[in-house]
Amino acid sequence: MRYISTRGGIDPISFTEAVMMGLAADGGLLLPDPLPSVDSATLDVWKDLSYPDLALKIMDLFIDDLSNKKLGVLINDAYITFNTPDVTPIVKVGKHYILELFHGPTLAFKDVALQVLGNLFSLFLKESGEKMNILGATSGDTGSAAIYGVRGKDNINIFILHPQGRVSKVQALQMTTVPEKNVFNIALKGTFDDCQAIVKAIFNQLDFKSQYHLGSINSINWARVLAQVVYYVYATLKVKEQTGDEPVNFSVPTGNFGDIFAGYIAKQLIRPNIGRLVLATNENNILTRFVLQGHYAKSKVIHTISPSMDIQVASNFERYLYYLYNQEPERVKQAFMFLDKKDEIIISREERAQVRRDFASASIDQASTITTIRDIYKKTGYILDPHTAVGVAAAERLVADLPKGPTICLATAHPAKFPDAVSKAIGREPERPESLKGIEDRSSRYEVLPAEVDAVKNYIVKHAL
Ligand SMILES: *Cc1c(COP(=O)(O)O)cnc(C)c1O
Repeated sequence: MRYISTRGGIDPISFTEAVMMGLAADGGLLLPDPLPSVDSATLDVWKDLSYPDLALKIMDLFIDDLSNKKLGVLINDAYITFNTPDVTPIVKVGKHYILELFHGPTLAFKDVALQVLGNLFSLFLKESGEKMNILGATSGDTGSAAIYGVRGKDNINIFILHPQGRVSKVQALQMTTVPEKNVFNIALKGTFDDCQAIVKAIFNQLDFKSQYHLGSINSINWARVLAQVVYYVYATLKVKEQTGDEPVNFSVPTGNFGDIFAGYIAKQLIRPNIGRLVLATNENNILTRFVLQGHYAKSKVIHTISPSMDIQVASNFERYLYYLYNQEPERVKQAFMFLDKKDEIIISREERAQVRRDFASASIDQASTITTIRDIYKKTGYILDPHTAVGVAAAERLVADLPKGPTICLATAHPAKFPDAVSKAIGREPERPESLKGIEDRSSRYEVLPAEVDAVKNYIVKHAL
């Protein structure tokens, strides 16, 4: 499998090179070319596989420069850290199917991909004898998952930017209480979009990037999207076993468009088994406006009770645009030039129709999010985290617009990560899993920096490997 850039400015590269490059050298995002698909006979075999075995089959389709054996070991090592052999179990809650993606070490779906990515980096560096400084931005959950993926590993330092005071208390503690010396947390005086823009600006300084061997753990890294494709296929096969032939829909609480883009790839991979993808947003609804009106225009970030989705500039959106634009990199380039100048992207009527075939979308405000947590709890005793609740509420609101098969709602975080929002909804905090008990008592460390590229660069220079 070869990897190309959405902006067409690099020669095709291998999977390993794509993972190490992160952001494409021409400023675009990397994609496999061509997209693979599998037939129903293959799916019949796949439906009995364990999660790690299915992950190996799927990832292997996209990777041809890593032996099956090495990949298998790396995947098994990643999912051993989860607290259930199912890795991503599916539970029926009232009429909803809930795909629980929060059984990893940091209790959010980011673990599913980042435990694999940490092992990939580690393997590549061991084989090449090189070292790496990881640089990433987090709206709350990526940071801790990435840190847990590489803590204490040889030849890797990790620098994570989070918006100061804008992540939940538990999220901040999960990142800043990790004692290993290769972990550096930066609390940035700005928003998540500032964090992400600074990281992107630094990755675009190619001399600096290569001098300091910068690596990326954000969902611009293809390996993350790839690892997430697996649970869409896994859930589709499991739910269809119970419900029959109808395609399944997915509802996905969306911020950076990484998770739902993995759903889009899964849909191409196992056509026609996935119906529609519900793009669920909180009050930061740039992507919902795009789906409904064909108009992508930034506005100001609103801070909500689902902070991991408080994003205006969705980094993976470019990958979808590439397919929407018939895989023509020139058009992607022009669209982003236009976005830089005019702060908007507008698509044609035909493209809008295509978007509506791919996605349904709803934006859920904070009051409805709280009500949804409360209602589901009253009816079933099950506690949703506020991000998952956005997805469940969107699925409920759009039920008449969706193909009639079952809809699977992605549970992207454990409710104990967001005790304040949950407590507002149901009058008590959710019980804490073992990994969070006593977290306030551990010592915590981080550096506060202004939202400036140079301040972050200087800090990296001082602490890089
Ligand atoms: C990151 C995150 C999201 C958003 O996922 P994207 O891939 O950025 O769209 C949703 N919910 C939770 C809990 C998250 O951590």
